[in-house]
Amino acid sequence: MIHVTKTFFPPIEEYTLHLQCVWQNQWLTNRGELVLELEAKLKIFLRTNSILITNNGTIPLQIALKLLAKGGEVITTPFSYVATTASILWENCTPVFVDIHPDYLTIDETKIEAAITSKTTAILATHVFGNPCYVEKIEQIAQKHHLKVIYDAAHCFGVKYQGESIFEYGDVSTCSFHATKLFHTGEGGAFFCNDAKLMHQLFYSHNFGHNGPLDFHGLGINGKISELQAAMGLAVLPYMEHIMDERKKVVDYYNNHLNFSTLIKMKLRAGTEWNYSYYPVIFKDETQLLEIQEKLNKAAIFPRRYFYPSLNKIGYLKSSSMPISEKIASSILCLPLYVGLEERDLKIICAILNSILC
Ligand SMILES: *Cc1c(COP(=O)(O)O)cnc(C)c1O
Repeated sequence: MIHVTKTFFPPIEEYTLHLQCVWQNQWLTNRGELVLELEAKLKIFLRTNSILITNNGTIPLQIALKLLAKGGEVITTPFSYVATTASILWENCTPVFVDIHPDYLTIDETKIEAAITSKTTAILATHVFGNPCYVEKIEQIAQKHHLKVIYDAAHCFGVKYQGESIFEYGDVSTCSFHATKLFHTGEGGAFFCNDAKLMHQLFYSHNFGHNGPLDFHGLGINGKISELQAAMGLAVLPYMEHIMDERKKVVDYYNNHLNFSTLIKMKLRAGTEWNYSYYPVIFKDETQLLEIQEKLNKAAIFPRRYFYPSLNKIGYLKSSSMPISEKIASSILCLPLYVGLEERDLKIICAILNSILC
């Protein structure tokens, strides 16, 4: 069976080598040696000025919203994973959707200002599939209206924009190290923030608010990652170049063998060094998507409908209409993309798609 992705497992001996260190230290959590080592190595690999790793990619969104959005209205994209919208609601803020750009699939920055009210406190936008939002324009709007900017950069491990890590943008950027993501620690995630004062707040908030064992800076929650997860990260990190190279081969294969006469690809923003994180394709309509999905499923191939439904259509939300996001969400499919996906399988996938596309 072929799924949309397959978790990368490093050689088990290399994982156990890191575990031996954990046993030697007799230390499992609260920012032990392995967590600190992983943070140091990630900072070098990603070339970021800051990093704080966490137990998943959702808690940093929640903490950033708690500190920066403060229960207000948060302008956000309807085309993302549910965690983006759910975090806003979970923090008792109100999501205000702004439709997406039909080519880039990121929030349409030209529509943001019309959605700002006196209650707006922040913008939470997703660099969807690792494609950067128009960060310069969003920054400009945020400064003009005194809003905070949080980027859900869950898909962005290794993405560079204008020669810099995409994590350097926004008041806070977050990433996910979930097993289905490009780089993973099983479960895990991170904050990136270049404001030392804010980073300090994020730090204590992710550790119950502690200021030493007996005092508290403020309210906090548990966002800490364990040594066991850090061990996985340390074992996966040396393979990142290999992982990206192998994924690039799959992406190149699709690019060279799919029939793009009607099929549409996401447009990468100029200035982006992409990470080959997903291979989304947009069909003519949902009928064509379902026809292709059924044919693929019959061949034991299971792509994923990332992201369906458009988040404004989720049952627990008041539904506003987001025509572009709804159209894209109903007709987009992410094709299988992972290390070890073989050429004979790619050949079958492309043949099935092309048989219906022509
Ligand atoms: C995966 C993902 C998250 C959540 O990350 P977890 O590590 O699973 O908590 C948030 N936002 C987006 C866009 C994601 O794809």
